[in-house]
Amino acid sequence: MSVIEKLNADGIIALENKYGAHNYHPLPVVLNRGEGVYVWDVDGKKYYDFLSAYSAVNQGHCHPKIIGALINQAQKLTLTSRAFYNDQLGPYEEFVTKYFGFDKVLPMNTGVEAVETALKLCRKWAYEVKGVAEHEAQIIVCDGNFHGRTTTIISFSNDENARKNFGPFTKGFIKIAYDNLEALETALKSSKNIAGFLVEPIQGEAGVYTPEDEYMIRAKELCNQYNVLFIADEVQTGIARTGSLLAVCGKCTCENQCERQKTYATPDILILGKALSGGAYPVSAVLANDAIMNVIKPGQHGSTFGGNPIAAALAIAALEVVNEEHLIQNARVLGKLFRSKLNEYIHNSNVAVLVRGRGLLNAVVINDTEESDTAWNICMAMRDNGLLAKPTHGNIIRFAPPLVINEVQLLHCVAIIIKTLRQFEK
Ligand SMILES: *Cc1c(COP(=O)(O)O)cnc(C)c1O
Repeated sequence: MSVIEKLNADGIIALENKYGAHNYHPLPVVLNRGEGVYVWDVDGKKYYDFLSAYSAVNQGHCHPKIIGALINQAQKLTLTSRAFYNDQLGPYEEFVTKYFGFDKVLPMNTGVEAVETALKLCRKWAYEVKGVAEHEAQIIVCDGNFHGRTTTIISFSNDENARKNFGPFTKGFIKIAYDNLEALETALKSSKNIAGFLVEPIQGEAGVYTPEDEYMIRAKELCNQYNVLFIADEVQTGIARTGSLLAVCGKCTCENQCERQKTYATPDILILGKALSGGAYPVSAVLANDAIMNVIKPGQHGSTFGGNPIAAALAIAALEVVNEEHLIQNARVLGKLFRSKLNEYIHNSNVAVLVRGRGLLNAVVINDTEESDTAWNICMAMRDNGLLAKPTHGNIIRFAPPLVINEVQLLHCVAIIIKTLRQFEK
């Protein structure tokens, strides 16, 4: 037996503590298997996964079609770099652009790389198409944003913990209040050097803040009016999570008429990641039409792994699963059920203040301060009761199961959550 096999959960956690950088604070549960909405720990205990790796695993753990595509491609060709063509990338590029309704895609790997790519693309467009003087471009961003962890992207974060002692920071960003159209218009008017507006249609990391219904479409109209690119970061909200293909966009492929159709806005630049691979591999993408994407020429941007054949083959499978298994409709219907059941409970609760969200991206706000450990303790108790979720910003718990969850499972999970909250009622 190898050393690894003999270790129990505490032993494995101790290894991470000793040999790994302490850049995360995980819930103490050590997982070694996943299937659909379930994960299992090293002792064989089964849990519902209500984080879905921050909405990467929308299609469910180890989806056979996605893993099949991965294995099949991994046995043929894994990486060529973009120095040569590979036979998977072109077909994927056609598939993904038609799927989301854009002329072109620029393939990357992680979410933050796709955000970086979008920012570079936006700046280049501003200089070469809009005619902004070099080095003068400004991009508007929102308070409470989360777009990843690179130096440029933390430059415009308000999370002091994420920024402290990582400066100096990248210039060229203007921060405004989220969900505030006057603030946006004031910023758009403030200078002729505004290149873009980068926004999350729902702020996931901030605690699942859902803006007013009209916010996205009005923001897009304002951007059009001032000739500024509207850049939607849908790394977390995209790909069926919120009950539409994109939280922001009219390219909804659902069978029924979307109830939110009238509020949709089509971004100039769309950023995707996470569920683009169903969590099986890092795959991200930036989509835009030719008038924007064509400003990038050979040698000006790239990535060794971006657009590799495994990513290309697997992303097609991951997006097909979204349609084949009606994940958009499922997220919408079960999301409503989740919020209505929790609202019934919260009505008479001292522990939970409110539930908010859209589709299956939801959060419950706990009646305590951000510094308190109540939400953490509730997550620990939910773990013991067979459901995994994690606090964000101290007193908010995000609930985002894989979108393949069915109604029976969802009701079982609601019962676990309510039972746990009851343990904390005073
Ligand atoms: C997770 C996330 C990112 C960063 O993705 P990584 O793959 O972790 O780099 C960017 N934007 C949003 C909205 C996210 O949720």
